[in-house]
Amino acid sequence: MSLSEEKAIVIVGAGICGLATALALHRKGVSSRVVERSESLRAAGAAIGIFANGWRVLDELGVGQELRSKAVLLQAVRDGSPRGETVSLMCLKRSDLINALANNLPPDTIRFGCQTVALNLDPQTSHPILHLHDGTVIKAEVVIGCDGINSVVADWLGLKTSSQFSLCAVRGLTNYPNGHGFSKEFVRIRRNNTTLGRIPIDEKLVHWFVGRLWTPQDSRLSKEHKLIRDSAVESIKDDFPADVEMIRNSDLASLTLLRLKYRAPWEILLGNFSKGTVTVAGDAMHVMGPFIGQGGSAGLEDAVVLARCFAKEMGGNGSSKPEEQGMMTIQAKRVGKAFDQYVKERRFRILRLSTQSYLTGLLVQASLPVMKLIILMLLLLLFPNSFGHTRHDCGRL
Ligand SMILES: Cc1cc2nc3c(=O)[nH]c(=O)nc-3n(C[C@H](O)[C@H](O)[C@H](O)COP(=O)(O)OP(=O)(O)OC[C@H]3O[C@@H](n4cnc5c(N)ncnc54)[C@H](O)[C@@H]3O)c2cc1C
Repeated sequence: MSLSEEKAIVIVGAGICGLATALALHRKGVSSRVVERSESLRAAGAAIGIFANGWRVLDELGVGQELRSKAVLLQAVRDGSPRGETVSLMCLKRSDLINALANNLPPDTIRFGCQTVALNLDPQTSHPILHLHDGTVIKAEVVIGCDGINSVVADWLGLKTSSQFSLCAVRGLTNYPNGHGFSKEFVRIRRNNTTLGRIPIDEKLVHWFVGRLWTPQDSRLSKEHKLIRDSAVESIKDDFPADVEMIRNSDLASLTLLRLKYRAPWEILLGNFSKGTVTVAGDAMHVMGPFIGQGGSAGLEDAVVLARCFAKEMGGNGSSKPEEQGMMTIQAKRVGKAFDQYVKERRFRILRLSTQSYLTGLLVQASLPVMKLIILMLLLLLFPNSFGHTRHDCGRL
């Protein structure tokens, strides 16, 4: 990359949300540059469950059909909750999702090896300037931070760093050469402070995760695959003895251990998610942990709503060529208005998702029975249908 680049719209981060945002804008005839710190597309975690709301967005982005042919339809989510509700979902390899989004972007949209380290405003024009790790600067007119949990853009907006649950998740893959024999179900069962999840990806491959209490030793464990596996076996052997072999036989290289983080509901309610021509989306805006399986889909919804608000305000309707849009001088006031509208449309939806996920996380980590009871009552009161979130429709692109 040159020492200095000018690009009208820069998206920081080529995860699910950054790529979906670039694609949504592209579908509206608006070009953007995605800057990603990794050297190639990365897809942390093996698989991702997508409920009906997420598939609606993938259809709007024009990749739903292609991805359905690669997805596994799981007949039901069996949740260990006392309500025992079920719902269907489709599960994808994360790499398939990431690749489908990236492959539908114009060539050279993504710049790899570009870690954003700081953001400031040009004192003359008030346009945002991104500073990369190698000293490169990118002069932008619009910046959209899709840079995940430790977002530089969220930090610039004055949002607090994400908070931590007292929980962590171990994720991995197990291959059964002769077939696993599990039913096509996403099983997620909680016993005491431990959750076991199991998703069959195909006839032979199973994605599983173990949620358990975080211990100080976990920072050390998280760097050694064998230790991660042993700790996962240890944490489920009493509550889920039948699944010990699955974890013992896992592919060591697939294992990850990470502390679960969240943005608190009150921060979602009050946070400034945009300032002028800078905004955030995806985990950078609302990291919520895996408890209701909606973090990725919420980022997909953000992408559609953001691109719709932007195109509506800027007059983009898909008819003009992306190159022309990229060259145009974007009027900061109109962008600001579009981002205000985007945040307004998203706030209540992500507040509900984040609250349900937050309370579920608290329920899993609580040890006092009275505390568990209070949280359960709150969940029943606020979310009488625990899968109601899957029915949300964020609208057309
Ligand atoms: C255990 C677990 C299970 C989950 N299961 C599900 C599920 O089944 N369904 C679901 O919908 N969601 C699930 N989620 C949530 C989902 O994984 C996340 O919400 C989603 O991946 C967030 O996508 P994102 O693009 O916002 O952020 P990320 O995936 O974190 O992507 C951010 C990107 O930005 C890049 N980046 C970061 N900083 C910089 C920088 N400074 N400069 C340049 N690039 C940068 C990163 O390299 C990365 O590529 C789960 C989460 C966990 C932890």
